[in-house]
Amino acid sequence: PIAITSATQETRSTCPYCGVGCGVVIETRDGAVTGVRGDEKHPANFGRLCSKGSTLHLTARPGLQRTARLLTPELRATRGEPGRAVGWDEALDAVADRIAATIATHGPDSVGLYLSGQLLTEDYYVFNKLAKGLLGTNNVDTNSRLCMSSAVAGYKLTLGADAPPACYEDLDHADLLFIVGANPAFAHPILFRRIEDAKARNPALKIVVVDPRRTDTAESADLFVQIQPGSDVAFFHGMLHILLWEGLIDEAYIAAHTEGFAELKRLVRDYTPGFVAQTCGIDVETLTRAAFLFGRAKAALSLYCQGLNQSASGTAKNAALVNLHLATGQIGRPGAGPFSLTGQPNAMGGREVGGMANLLSAHRDLTNPEHRAEVARLWGVDDVPAAPGKTAVEMFEAVRAGEIRLLWIVCTNPAQSLPDQNLVRAALDAAECVIVQDAFTGTETARYADIVLPASSWAEKEGSVTNSERRISRVRPAIAAPGEARADWRIAVDVARRLEARLRPGRPTLFGYDDVEAVWNEHRETTRGRDLDITGLSYAVLDADGPQHWPCREGEAPVARLYVDGVFPTASGRARFAALPHVPVADAIDARHPFRLTTGRLRDQWHGMTRTGTLGRLFGHAPEPAIEMYAGDMARRGIGDGELVRVTSRRGAMLLPVRASNAVRSGDAFIPMHWGEAYVGGRDDDGTAFTGVNALTTGAIDPRSKQPELKHAAVRVEKTALP
Ligand code: SF4
Repeated sequence: PIAITSATQETRSTCPYCGVGCGVVIETRDGAVTGVRGDEKHPANFGRLCSKGSTLHLTARPGLQRTARLLTPELRATRGEPGRAVGWDEALDAVADRIAATIATHGPDSVGLYLSGQLLTEDYYVFNKLAKGLLGTNNVDTNSRLCMSSAVAGYKLTLGADAPPACYEDLDHADLLFIVGANPAFAHPILFRRIEDAKARNPALKIVVVDPRRTDTAESADLFVQIQPGSDVAFFHGMLHILLWEGLIDEAYIAAHTEGFAELKRLVRDYTPGFVAQTCGIDVETLTRAAFLFGRAKAALSLYCQGLNQSASGTAKNAALVNLHLATGQIGRPGAGPFSLTGQPNAMGGREVGGMANLLSAHRDLTNPEHRAEVARLWGVDDVPAAPGKTAVEMFEAVRAGEIRLLWIVCTNPAQSLPDQNLVRAALDAAECVIVQDAFTGTETARYADIVLPASSWAEKEGSVTNSERRISRVRPAIAAPGEARADWRIAVDVARRLEARLRPGRPTLFGYDDVEAVWNEHRETTRGRDLDITGLSYAVLDADGPQHWPCREGEAPVARLYVDGVFPTASGRARFAALPHVPVADAIDARHPFRLTTGRLRDQWHGMTRTGTLGRLFGHAPEPAIEMYAGDMARRGIGDGELVRVTSRRGAMLLPVRASNAVRSGDAFIPMHWGEAYVGGRDDDGTAFTGVNALTTGAIDPRSKQPELKHAAVRVEKTALP
């Protein structure tokens, strides 16, 4: 912190909301946060903040800390009832005892850790090592599985590594922005400001938006393509079909830098413009215009997010988009490339340390015996278990089936955010022990806790995060955590040290960290020689020079743009075309469930509203949840604007008002993801709680990425009255 007056201090840190990763300056006085402003030196935002970032200081005010924060560890004899406040030693002993006893009786895979893309890289590192290096289970996964895992699987399948190849600066070099399944105007607002700036500077820049909804982003487009939910693969293959016919592919690039094009060519032969137009619900002319804009662009940059990822064919969607870039040589040049936009602030950092059920440190692969041996050596353990762990949805299915007995949930609220809430809540009910580690009281998940551990939050934590463009930023504490709350990494270490005494007595500790920097330094060492090598970085470098891209090898400069030499991290050095067909959505519409429901974000809310929901001013834009429908569909059902409707899927139901909207087409509907049980409340006639939109969504997952299809559910909509 730098003292600017005798009473006011400023601390540079990073916004904890979205993956744009904006820098913030936190103002504090007398140990309390008094203000926040954008960090003018941060290369993600250059001083700007959106509505969420600019109100961060209000979520850290002392009054809110007293009412909305978990302040002491708690042991609960009865779930849902207030427990007994205990000291940290008693709580940590209880956690270690329960884990050790569960493993002794049922084996290591009877324990699961469910983490969060809101955690810092250092937090993730310790939890991952605790699970895989000490407990002996790979059952560690995260809500990032709901966010970017299809993008990761798509990159690895085609380019050979989990690494977005582009950077924000590419916005200024592109002459085509191809925005697909993303609404940056709401979900990545500061990036959208940069898009607007790029357009203002370069009127020749064309913007194509492909989305089932006419979003605010779509309003800025030169061409808006309103495809049917789930038809993206057909659309991209249809574009490639036209590019082939029109000779708009880059044969020299394909020959020099790729493999597998012949098979893809055979596949897309069947994706004729007529077939694709019918599958996507668009006209041939629009498809052709999109293909020509892409094929004739000098530098095409694709920006994409959950519309591609949250799908039971998410990997195929991502790969089909990357195919377009490879086929036209639109990659590895300024302004060109596929560029996934990360949803959460540190989904990327979590993957860097291998904090997922299928990964190991530094993007190593759990299925690779050499990688397991390397990590075991780096950690100083005998081995790392080989059996794949359970991914997010699988983990809760395993809990319900009695395979996982103890669940430790950190910094996330699965009783709102996971799909198919009936299954998730049945699983939480069935678990023998649920440990909830969180900063906030009142989450739906906390109700299931047997042990509650209070964690520190934004403005109190130290560490690092990585944003969408592979740039690592420091997170710095400006105030002390309230009550007994502790840093997440510290809680993990405290539990690990106790478990070491029980599971590997007499051996040197694996968790001898004096501070959070020691954790980061160990993580850095695991990256040596890997694609994300950060051996050229340190906290001191990040503090002196500001946020930096990875890779940044020792003695070298950070690399902002990847694959400029046309060499890819695959066995052959060539990028691979992926020939994966269009597959219809998992939850098909029928006469009983005739509407295609899609879900998404609003401008001023974040996730389940734990923080943003505490600020009245952030409800001005959208004061209550509503289902958006096409006015003609409402009229045919005799439903008036603002009336209450019952929305029912094959898994559950919810009640909410309806709003006529031109943003969705006939047959489609939209519900924002933010409002959970705390807001929609109430119970159905059969006693089932109305849990929010994820009562409706399906737990169907992509077979490669294991990401669930949160973006599509078949529903019916009926006029109703309050029960
Ligand atoms: Fe925070 Fe994202 Fe807004 Fe930037 S764009 S201020 S990172 S929420």
